[in-house]
Amino acid sequence: MVEGRGYDSNVYVFDDIMVDTGTGENMDYILKSIKKAGVNPDDLSMIVNTHNHFDHMGGNRYLDLKVAMHREDALILEGGDRDMTVASMFGGSLEGIKVDIKLEEGDKIHDFEVLHTPGHTAGGICLYNGETLISGDTVFANGGFGRTDLSGDMNDMGRSLEKLVKLDVRYLLPGHGPCTNDGSKYVKMAYDLSRGLH
Ligand SMILES: [Zn+2]
Ligand SMILES: [Zn+2]
Repeated sequence: MVEGRGYDSNVYVFDDIMVDTGTGENMDYILKSIKKAGVNPDDLSMIVNTHNHFDHMGGNRYLDLKVAMHREDALILEGGDRDMTVASMFGGSLEGIKVDIKLEEGDKIHDFEVLHTPGHTAGGICLYNGETLISGDTVFANGGFGRTDLSGDMNDMGRSLEKLVKLDVRYLLPGHGPCTNDGSKYVKMAYDLSRGLH
């Protein structure tokens, strides 16, 4: 895990996969941290973006790697929508940010399965391997869930949390803030919270 600096999302690396890349403002720090953790950035082969928000994929353009993202978020990004991707909020440009692989529910990335969890965005995903949930901005380690008013939908979020609450989650690795090794507890908190808001 590389903890996000400034507005950057957290970045995770497993095998040859990098999950999210931050805004791109702190790429030196991210690459140094990856090296420090014992991974040579040259050995990475693919970026997986949990969703199309600029604070998660702005850094893609600085890395010469294939990019995978859920089809629905990829289409919005390819349409150049600076509001839906919150690039306008961060004063960022979408130029040069492309998607090579369009992911679908159930796709496998090594040991991890792609779970389509719309709500924060239409094409948000989590990655799950039976123990670890890389959750993007869908659910956080404080029992909160991602905001749905920027580019999302609260009903979708409720359904996504209902899907996640059925999983056995030990390690919850969210897009912002700390991780926890008591994941299911916080997913349940977020699920309860979403039910209270319905
Ligand atoms: Zn975010
Ligand atoms: Zn987001």
